[in-house]
Amino acid sequence: MRDQLTREQRYRAMVANRGRTGPELALAHALWRRGLRYLTADGYRRLGGPRLSGHPDMVFAGRHVVVFVDGCFWHGCPRCKGIPTQSGAFWRRKIETNVARDRRVTAELRRAGWAVIRVPEHALRDEARLARTAARVARRVRARRSRAPRTSSRLIPWR
Ligand SMILES: [Zn+2]
Repeated sequence: MRDQLTREQRYRAMVANRGRTGPELALAHALWRRGLRYLTADGYRRLGGPRLSGHPDMVFAGRHVVVFVDGCFWHGCPRCKGIPTQSGAFWRRKIETNVARDRRVTAELRRAGWAVIRVPEHALRDEARLARTAARVARRVRARRSRAPRTSSRLIPWR
């Protein structure tokens, strides 16, 4: 299978395996500069929080907001349509599994009272988009009051 991967796919697989990715760090820094402080899912657990479904990239514990940065390829971004045609069935199955898991995770977290923000990687792809996306995430985080979680958190589609 490995030999059938294009350079782009190999790069993405490598990035996916490394943990924190470039786009995720870029968003994290941009939010930090805007004065937002978050925990990682592991940090949240160390402070006594529950295990969060899907291991979110950022946890705004007081406001009950979690953020995921989703790689467009692995998460089947409908806008980027990254599924390769070569050995397509293999990748399609893998990506469909990921998409189904994303939906399940989002639903579970929302039931538990978290607002779930999923940021596709393409929304962070250049400086202008990164700035717009960070501003938007910051607005949504700040719009949540620091009190008991609501159950009516909406999932706003990302443009
Ligand atoms: Zn995308």
